[in-house]
Amino acid sequence: MSQTLKAVRGTRDLLPPETALWNRIEATARNVFARYNFGEIRTPVFEDTALFARGVGEETDIVSKEMYTWSDGERFEENKMIAEWIDKNRSTQPHNVQPGRINEQGTPSFLAKLNALGVQRQVYRGIQQGQHLTGVTELVCFRPALSTDAISALVKARVLAKSDPSSQLQQGRIELRLVIPTSAPLNPWVERGDVSIEQFEGQFFASSQSLTLRPENTAGVVRSYIENKLGETGQLQKLYYIGPQFRRERPQKGRYRQFSQIGAEVIGPPSSGSESPLRDAEILEMLATLLDELGITGWTLELNSVGSAADRAGYNETLRAALVPVVGKMCADCQRRAVTNPLRVLDCKVPDDQPIIETLPVIADSLDEESRKHFAAVTAALDAAGVPYTLNHRLVRGLDYYTRTTFEFTHGGLGAQNALLGGGRYDGLSEMLGGPRAPGIGFAMGEDRLVLTLLAALDQNSAVEQKAEAFIAPLGESLNAAALILARELRHQGLWIELGEGSFRLKKSFEAADKTARHIVILGEDELKSGILTVKNFSTGIQTKVPRGELAVFLAEPPRE
Ligand code: AMP
Repeated sequence: MSQTLKAVRGTRDLLPPETALWNRIEATARNVFARYNFGEIRTPVFEDTALFARGVGEETDIVSKEMYTWSDGERFEENKMIAEWIDKNRSTQPHNVQPGRINEQGTPSFLAKLNALGVQRQVYRGIQQGQHLTGVTELVCFRPALSTDAISALVKARVLAKSDPSSQLQQGRIELRLVIPTSAPLNPWVERGDVSIEQFEGQFFASSQSLTLRPENTAGVVRSYIENKLGETGQLQKLYYIGPQFRRERPQKGRYRQFSQIGAEVIGPPSSGSESPLRDAEILEMLATLLDELGITGWTLELNSVGSAADRAGYNETLRAALVPVVGKMCADCQRRAVTNPLRVLDCKVPDDQPIIETLPVIADSLDEESRKHFAAVTAALDAAGVPYTLNHRLVRGLDYYTRTTFEFTHGGLGAQNALLGGGRYDGLSEMLGGPRAPGIGFAMGEDRLVLTLLAALDQNSAVEQKAEAFIAPLGESLNAAALILARELRHQGLWIELGEGSFRLKKSFEAADKTARHIVILGEDELKSGILTVKNFSTGIQTKVPRGELAVFLAEPPRE
C-alpha cells in the first residue's frame, strides 16, 4: 500500500469556514489601503538569493538559517553560442562569398518571423564549384540539445521561406542546420530528416543560479522599484502586497514555514517627501485604523528609533564594549551575538539575561540631532492624531535594513508569538541593492496571526455562524431541474442559496438544511403548479406560504430576534 501524503511540516491547508475570515481580512485591508491611496504590487514568490543576502542582511537569522534556497540547474547561454558560432564561420570579406564561410542575411521582417519560430539566423554560405562561387542559404537553429521541436521549427521555417515574398528565397536552395553544444547528448529518437546536425565546441552553460523563496517582501518591492524605475516618476510610491512568505523556522502555534503577510511600503526620491516624519505617522495611524476596522482590540504599538546607519553602527560598538564584562554570564546565543551583531542581544527572551540587558546603554543616547528631531516629529504627530504608543528602546528588529523609526504592534492574546506586525524605515535599502537614493518606510503584518487573534475573540463571543439564506429541497428527483431553476432565480437576485437533491427523503433534507441555511424552501408538484412555496425559518420554527415572486425579499430579511 502506498503511504498517504501529507502537507509538509510547517505548512497547512486553509479551509472553509476559516477562509471566509481570511477573505474578510484581505477585503478590509484592501479597502483601507485604497482610502490611504495605496496601490497593489505583486512581486514573484522567488528571487535571486543575492537579493535577500544583500537586502535583508547575511547576519540575520532569516538569511543565515531560515531561507529555502536551491540552485536552479544549468542555464543555456544561447546568445553566447550564436556569437561564437558566427565569429568562427564569418566571411572575412562581407561582400564576397568565400568557400565555406558565412554572411548573415535576411530582411528584418522575415528574420523577425524566423525568430518567432525559434530559428535564430539566416546565413548565406558560399561554396566553390570549379571556377565559380555559388552558395546556399541556411536557416539555423541553436539549441542546448537535439530536440524534435528544434527540427520542426527548422522545417516550418523552410515552408515559410518558400512562401514569404520578403524572404527572397522562393527559388533558391535552402538547407537546415541545427547547432548544439558538443557536451549535449544526442537523442537517437529524434527524426532528423534533412536537417544537418552540427556539434559545436565550447562552454555554453552558465553555472547555476541560486534562487530563494521570499522570506519577506520588502526586498522584492524595493528591487522592483529600482528595476521598473519607479523613482523616475518623481512621485511617492505607496504600494501594498498580500501574499505567502517562507521561512524554515521551528513550527509552533502562530509560527509557520509558509505564512502570509499583508504589508505596505512608502518609498520615493527624497524630493517626493519620502523622508518626512509625516509618512511614518501616516503609516502608523493607518495601521491603527486597519486593526480597529478588523475588530482587533487591545493592541499595543511599540515604538523606537534606531537612528541613521551611522548612529546604529556607533551604538553597535558602544553595545559591544558594554557587553564585554557581562556577556560571560549570558546565554549562548547572546555570547555569539555579542560578537556578530550586538544589537540582536536586545531581542533575547531568556529570563536570566533580562536584568543584565536592562543595564546596557540605550540607543536613544546614540542618536544624532537629525534622527532625534525626526523621531520627535513622528511622536508629536501620533499624539496629535490620538494614536497611543509606548516607547520601547529595545525594539531594534531583526532585519539589517532598518533606520530611524522602528515599530511593532503586539497583542496579548497571541502568547509567545505576540507580534502582529512589525516594520520601520529603511532609508539606505535602495542603495544597498544598487538603486538610487530612495528613503522608505513599511510594515509586514502576519495574516495567520490576525486570523488566530480574531478566531479567539469570535469564540469568546460565540460567533454567529455564517449560513446560506435558504436551502431548496425538491420533493423527488423529477423536481431536480425545477429546483435548479428556482435556485438560479434566487442566486441571480443576489441570495446565498444551497441546492438540495430530490432523492433525499424530507427528513434528510431538513437535517441538511438546518446545518447550512437559515430557511428551507420546499418545492413539490403542488408548489411548482401553484407558485406558492412552503418556507420554514429554522430560528423561529415558523412555516410560511410565500408566492414565488416575493420569495427573494422574504428570504433576505434578517432573522427576527
Ligand atoms: P518580520 O518580517 O519578521 O518583521 O515579520 C512580520 C510579521 O510577520 C510578524 O510580526 C508576524 O506577525 C509575521 N510572521 C513572521 N514570521 C512568521 C511565521 N513564521 N509564521 C507566521 N507569521 C509570521
